[in-house]
Amino acid sequence: MAGFPSEVDVAVIGAGAAGIGAARRLGKVGSVSVLVLEARDRVGGRVHTIEPAGFPCDRGAEWLHSADRNPLSPIAQGLGFSVHRRPPEWTTRLRRSGETVEAEADWIATREAQARARRKAAAEAGDRALASLVEPGGRWNELLDATSSWGNGAELDRVSVKDYVRYEDSGVNWRLREGYGRLFETLAKEQPVALETAVSRVDHRGQVICLETARGTVTAERVIVTVPTSIIAGDVLRFDPPLPEKVVAAGGLPLGVDDKLFISLSGQLPGVERDAYLVGSTTSRETMSYQVRPFDRPAICCFFGGRWAAALEREGEAGMFSFAAGELARLFGNDIRRQIAPLASTAWLHDPWARGSYSYALPGHADDRALLAGPVDDRLFFAGEACSPNFFSTAHGAYMTGVAAAEAALASLALPIEA
Ligand SMILES: Cc1cc2nc3c(=O)[nH]c(=O)nc-3n(C[C@H](O)[C@H](O)[C@H](O)COP(=O)(O)OP(=O)(O)OC[C@H]3O[C@@H](n4cnc5c(N)ncnc54)[C@H](O)[C@@H]3O)c2cc1C
Repeated sequence: MAGFPSEVDVAVIGAGAAGIGAARRLGKVGSVSVLVLEARDRVGGRVHTIEPAGFPCDRGAEWLHSADRNPLSPIAQGLGFSVHRRPPEWTTRLRRSGETVEAEADWIATREAQARARRKAAAEAGDRALASLVEPGGRWNELLDATSSWGNGAELDRVSVKDYVRYEDSGVNWRLREGYGRLFETLAKEQPVALETAVSRVDHRGQVICLETARGTVTAERVIVTVPTSIIAGDVLRFDPPLPEKVVAAGGLPLGVDDKLFISLSGQLPGVERDAYLVGSTTSRETMSYQVRPFDRPAICCFFGGRWAAALEREGEAGMFSFAAGELARLFGNDIRRQIAPLASTAWLHDPWARGSYSYALPGHADDRALLAGPVDDRLFFAGEACSPNFFSTAHGAYMTGVAAAEAALASLALPIEA
């Protein structure tokens, strides 16, 4: 969008999954004018597909989690995307990582015991960290921490038990052959998005709300804020009058760190079938998860998270590749080094418009999601993955909060919310 209106009914800040969900919902009501203000030069936010070697790689979200309850599953199918239903082999990856099948069964039993302990602890009065439920000296403690850093973006000592158990995982996970990012690009195509238009201030003192943007001032009757918690807690987007309760809630829901390194793979990894998963080490929390030949493509997607990922981001792609090559060489022998080369990598913590990967709640902060999501004066609405009570940290959770915020904004304008 080259030029854009300086006055609209509803302005949406951010064109990620939540912003696109909000815009699509608002767009169904013909009589309401809408503008989406996006800081980047692209839509999608933390969902972004690239093609560094002629096939799609998702830098951010890849999986349609809880796919049987995920509203994006039927939308993707309806748009002709190829939905891949083969379940990921996250539970059986230890047998390809140097462990026996018996050891793998022990690991799975440990995880199930943790899940039970988490549900029990969540029913107690106070909140605590997931780490408090881990048996000291347990055989799998390092791996439990590593898997927490992949799932939550943070190690067990950082994550609230109460929040963790509120996530509704149906256990069904699908993928799009074309890439999740391509779906959001398609969904955003008809939407009024102004790119490279960062919003720095939301002035809600007067009768209309004034947004200070990189391309001038925009006024709106209603505003839907969908930026990551890091942007609110870090005061990158300021409110006037200030909204200290939002800043505190955003601070209780920091973004964890998860990154990906894509490497090319010529030939096969010995004994590893396509689309299989492995872990680099089962005894260190500083290890990567490897998705080998996704969709049978000549690549490996390496995934890593937590404090260590934050440190590895500073070392850049060369440091990430050197680590991954070392882990793969330990598992498959040194010759493997001749089969692999770096293709692309992410650094979500250092991305100025994300500043992290996805939100988790600090112990004692599970209810911050509801505080963050609450509207202000029925004029300012909040959406984004961190606002989701049950699908936080996901693209579909973000999308659903965007739709809900749009419906609340329409209701406040006394406009029909029927689609
Ligand atoms: C490595 C990784 C793997 C992931 N894997 C999965 C997965 O497999 N499945 C899944 O469902 N989810 C996954 N996620 C999480 C998912 O990507 C996010 O939860 C979701 O995309 C967040 O959407 P959002 O709209 O809330 O936020 P964002 O996508 O961050 O959108 C917010 C938008 O606001 C913009 N913005 C920020 N500040 C401003 C400003 N001041 N003015 C204007 N615009 C601004 C940003 O540029 C961005 O486009 C993954 C994320 C990462 C990083």
